[in-house]
Amino acid sequence: MSTATLPSYEDATTRYEVVIGLETHVELGTRTKMFCGCSTVFGAEPNTQVCPVCLGLPGSLPVANGAAIEATIRIGLALNCGIAKWCRFARKNYFYPDMPKNFQTSQYDEPLCEDGYVDVDVDGETVRIPIERVHLEEDTGKSLHVGGTGRIQGSSESLVDYNRAGIPLVEIVTRPIVGAGAMAPEVARAYVTELREIVRSLGVSDVRMEQGSLRCDVNTSLNLPGAEWGTRTETKNVNSLRSVERAARSEIPRQASLLDAGERIVQETRHFHEDTGDTTPGRSKETATDYRYFPEPDLAPMAPDPQWVADLKAALPELPRQRRKRLQAQWGLSDHDMASVLNADAVDLIEATIAAGASSESARKWWMGELSRHANDQDLDLAQVPITPAQVAQLQGLIDAGTLNDKLARQVIEGVLAGEGDPEKVANARGLAVVSDTGALTKAVDDAIAANPDVADKVRGGKVAAAGALVGAVMKATKGQADAKTVRELIVQKLS
Ligand code: ADP
Ligand code: MG
Ligand code: ZN
Repeated sequence: MSTATLPSYEDATTRYEVVIGLETHVELGTRTKMFCGCSTVFGAEPNTQVCPVCLGLPGSLPVANGAAIEATIRIGLALNCGIAKWCRFARKNYFYPDMPKNFQTSQYDEPLCEDGYVDVDVDGETVRIPIERVHLEEDTGKSLHVGGTGRIQGSSESLVDYNRAGIPLVEIVTRPIVGAGAMAPEVARAYVTELREIVRSLGVSDVRMEQGSLRCDVNTSLNLPGAEWGTRTETKNVNSLRSVERAARSEIPRQASLLDAGERIVQETRHFHEDTGDTTPGRSKETATDYRYFPEPDLAPMAPDPQWVADLKAALPELPRQRRKRLQAQWGLSDHDMASVLNADAVDLIEATIAAGASSESARKWWMGELSRHANDQDLDLAQVPITPAQVAQLQGLIDAGTLNDKLARQVIEGVLAGEGDPEKVANARGLAVVSDTGALTKAVDDAIAANPDVADKVRGGKVAAAGALVGAVMKATKGQADAKTVRELIVQKLS
């Protein structure tokens, strides 16, 4: 290991070109496993969702899951790939305790989908990420290391749960992404974010990184300008979008310091650590020949009917980027405002609120204002805030009808969030309604004038702006239920 000091990120990315490649695994949400009829439901008792096929017992024969093949083709189409006319599964041979067959049924040089791209927006620029292939394989089981820290080192024994073994897994591999320079980690993150959105929009996976249904390996290498690509390392264990960026960010200066010292980069897997934000070495990387790939003899080749593929393509939903651009235009938002809406994960909520009858301005105002603040305070996702888009639309309806003002509306929201029911019910139960009938307001205005003779004199003397203090006093006295505009009119009328 080099003892050289780490160059700064900026220095490293000035002197070296950065190349990044991403391998992403998506666990499909099919009802049954890839090659047998076992359930895929998450969280069952260990080893209750297994059979001779997914346990790899001798004599058992796999049958491919048509729904998984269809989902993979749809992902490929959404990523602008060509779909193979004919392709096969392949055996990838290696031993791992959580892989009962001692080989993984995967695809090798004949993937279902090949040669696509996905456009992502980074800092207002469009970057086209080249997709090398999308293939279908199966997941492994899960090892559980008992005693110690949960890692294999220092544990007293290890248990294996095969429930996950054989769940369909789609692997999406980018070609090396070049030319992003110091922005490479952000580009990588933007790509995985976009990919997650695309797969989610297809409804084929719940793509939850924290639950492992979307997993990402980040390959990174550096080279001197104009030189050949360097040797890559492959960072595993990257469990959040933020970590995709951090993993690349920490790997770049590390490799730069080794290259500066004239050392070679070893092709290896590395583990990312959420707590420290850096990586430590894993295993030195196998090459394809180590796996002794060969075509899977127990499964028929796949030859998707071109008409069926064309139908699947025609039936793809509107893709997220296209939808975002459409909504941004419809809602009349600047790039900056749209970015905040996306950041807050508020697009669907605002859209549903508009569908329930609110204007786009008011829908955005509530979700991005009051309700985002509540989500932050309570450490919730915006979608977890206990109010529905229909309720927000109803609230805005009460404002538009003059029944509530913004201040009262915020009290109504409090009630809805406290589980007191729909806005209308909360407003009635809490007696919240704008008082705009002049008779009731006249007394409050008279009281305010009597209590603030100096201010009243100023207004009489022509300083109409001073009336604000009297309006404030009336609003306070009526607990915010007065209509401010009517109050001001009354005051000016009385003092002129
Ligand atoms: P493996 O399964 O052995 O990791 P894959 O072909 O599945 O191989 O994935 C390799 C990934 O590494 C791809 O995303 C590819 O774009 C990327 N990659 C290849 N060469 C480099 C390089 N020199 N620097 C960075 N990434 C690279
Ligand atoms: Mg790979
Ligand atoms: Zn099974």
